[in-house]
Amino acid sequence: MLTGRGQSENLFAGLLESAPDAIVIVGVDGQIVLVNAQCEALFGYRREEMIGSQVEMLVPERLLNIHRGHRDTYTSDPHPRAMGIGLALTARRKDGSEVPVEISLSPLETGSELLISAAVRDVTERRRIQDELERAKAEAENANHAKNDFLSRMSHELRTPLNAVLGFGQLLELDALTPSQDESLHQIMKAGRHLLDLIDEVLDITRIEAGKLPVSNEPVPVNPALIEALDLMRPSASEKTIALSTELTNTEGRYVMADRQRLRQVLLNLLSNAIKYNRTGGSVTLTTGVMGDLVTIAVTDSGRGISREHIDRVFQPFDRLGAEASDVEGTGLGLALSHGLIDTMGGKLTALSTAGVGSVFTISLLAVDAPRLVGEDAARSAAPALVTSEKLMTVLYIEDNLSNLRLIERALELRPGVRLLSAMQAKLGLELARQHRPDLVLLDLHLPDLSGEEALRILQSEPETAEIPVVIVTADATPTQMHKLLAAGATDYLTKPLDIGRLLALVDASAP
Ligand code: ADP
Repeated sequence: MLTGRGQSENLFAGLLESAPDAIVIVGVDGQIVLVNAQCEALFGYRREEMIGSQVEMLVPERLLNIHRGHRDTYTSDPHPRAMGIGLALTARRKDGSEVPVEISLSPLETGSELLISAAVRDVTERRRIQDELERAKAEAENANHAKNDFLSRMSHELRTPLNAVLGFGQLLELDALTPSQDESLHQIMKAGRHLLDLIDEVLDITRIEAGKLPVSNEPVPVNPALIEALDLMRPSASEKTIALSTELTNTEGRYVMADRQRLRQVLLNLLSNAIKYNRTGGSVTLTTGVMGDLVTIAVTDSGRGISREHIDRVFQPFDRLGAEASDVEGTGLGLALSHGLIDTMGGKLTALSTAGVGSVFTISLLAVDAPRLVGEDAARSAAPALVTSEKLMTVLYIEDNLSNLRLIERALELRPGVRLLSAMQAKLGLELARQHRPDLVLLDLHLPDLSGEEALRILQSEPETAEIPVVIVTADATPTQMHKLLAAGATDYLTKPLDIGRLLALVDASAP
């Protein structure tokens, strides 16, 4: 048999020895014709042991049938082909051990017969590195998940004591204070609000990273949104004598697809940076443009700019690019959050800057048609004005946190006609509601015995309590939760830290 192949052997032998892979040349009957030295090293057989034997000696027993099937298919339609790239093929060594391999097959026409060359590459090391990379990636993902989870829980926990700080602070603001007390209170409230912003930003970033930040996109008129944001920033611009200007001619009457509140948050953030990192007497310009089906909104400043080595990190959370050493206050979260928010709205936020000259931050969002008018504005302006309750009324507050209870108690002292009942457990609260039929129930969501949601359902299902308006008071400020409870029949939803003014307005609105 071998003698008939002598010519081909001579032809290929030299070529094979120089190849980096183990190479096995077989006939269509599966008999090994030639092997190179790398083949001996890989499989542990001597050359004479392999030549003349069936190639299946190099295949693990459990895979023999599959291999024979593949060989028959290949010899009926031979063409160059890579196998095992991206999937696990296995070969067998003389000692029975197995080795992961990739194989490339090529037909070799010798003139007298068809031979098949198989280049066999040991991929043990590559697999090991791949496995290690995958393990490291999974570990990093787990760690990131744990970090997000931790930040999200912490932020949530921090809102509760902050509720007490800002709530009682608001009450003190209503008292007659000496100028120095007033100044101290102002500082407490300022720091408290800053802390609240920070907590909200951390919560938002963790939600964006987890892909769980809900946005409600709608057509938003571009120019009014920009002018509103610009008006809000005028006081801080004039403090630093910075000139604000606009070039909005391209977007007159145009709309973009965006979440109105979130777009405002991003614009305020970009404008506030453009002012903060500017020089006294500098300028900030808002420019709009239209590019295909995109609207671009650029915030250009004449500030200190960002150096080339820093610009790539500008959207990294907590990275202040050295500004921490300056007297400009900040957290390094605003741009990371803005970038994530615009991304979630389906747009892009990019930065261009020259150190010492200034920066341009550009938002691009999808342009859309104007929405059909639905009289929403008319409905809004018809909202009832605040009235002070003069008649006697009863409010029931179901809440297990003493400090929150005390806060509402104090707030309701501002309404002498209001009697406050309180319960620290849901079941007791339900009992009080049945007995006293209050005019309003304020309901916390995290109660020790029943969830607030369940308590709401019970109140709604019993005839004595079904008509009582229920306002949810909670630190859980996620829109999903809010929509769920409003859909379940809650009259309104107050988030902590409480806005005392809104609370009193709700109490007034429920007065008999
Ligand atoms: P911060 O709370 O520090 O302002 P940001 O996330 O908004 O956080 O911005 C990150 C960093 O990018 C800032 O600390 C500052 O160094 C730099 N930066 C942001 N906007 C500008 C700007 N308009 N000009 C110069 N530097 C800026």
